[in-house]
Amino acid sequence: MTGYDSYSKDGNNNLDLIMQISNNVIRCTKCKLCHTRKNAVPGEGSASARVVFVGEAPGRFEDAQGKPFVGPAGKVLEAALLNANISSSQVFITNIVKCRPPGNRRPKRDEIIMCKDYLNRQISVINPKIVCVLGATAYLSLLGGKEITLNRGKLLNINGRDYFLTIHPAATLYRRSLLHVLEEDLLKLSKLIIE
Ligand code: URA
Ligand code: SF4
Repeated sequence: MTGYDSYSKDGNNNLDLIMQISNNVIRCTKCKLCHTRKNAVPGEGSASARVVFVGEAPGRFEDAQGKPFVGPAGKVLEAALLNANISSSQVFITNIVKCRPPGNRRPKRDEIIMCKDYLNRQISVINPKIVCVLGATAYLSLLGGKEITLNRGKLLNINGRDYFLTIHPAATLYRRSLLHVLEEDLLKLSKLIIE
């Protein structure tokens, strides 16, 4: 994904607020992940996006560049978005935690709790039609859900907000057969956001 160049039309006010959040994230020292990160990764995309995608945490490539989903998992996500005709101007992409956990371990409970306010603020400023939950960590952290593989493809309304569940793009790197699952889900999502 490519910086802030795709912010659109009525998003100027949103853009200021989103950039404020990004600046807060970049300087954040609220949890111990700040000691090992190269770059915090606030998230990128349109400040008036129809969909906010939420992954787990930055990996090595994201940490190096300060941008979300720029490594192999990002390539998979990008291809699935293209396949579903969802353009980058319609999306904002971020993660549950904004700094890379060392060795790509799962983020810990205290890190998730400390970081949560940034994601909540991003979602409330952007106010997307749908929040797309990518994989088990995002599902558990955001909604307390379990068994993403059984629940993927579902649209849930929780406290007045719509959440669409799908697998994490990285899962397709370990099991190629999951690629069609991600593609199928994003096609479904593309229909939901134009309704
Ligand atoms: N995996 C994630 O969950 N997020 C990224 O940004 C990259 C890989
Ligand atoms: Fe701050 Fe979140 Fe990074 Fe922890 S992971 S330092 S809470 S931005």
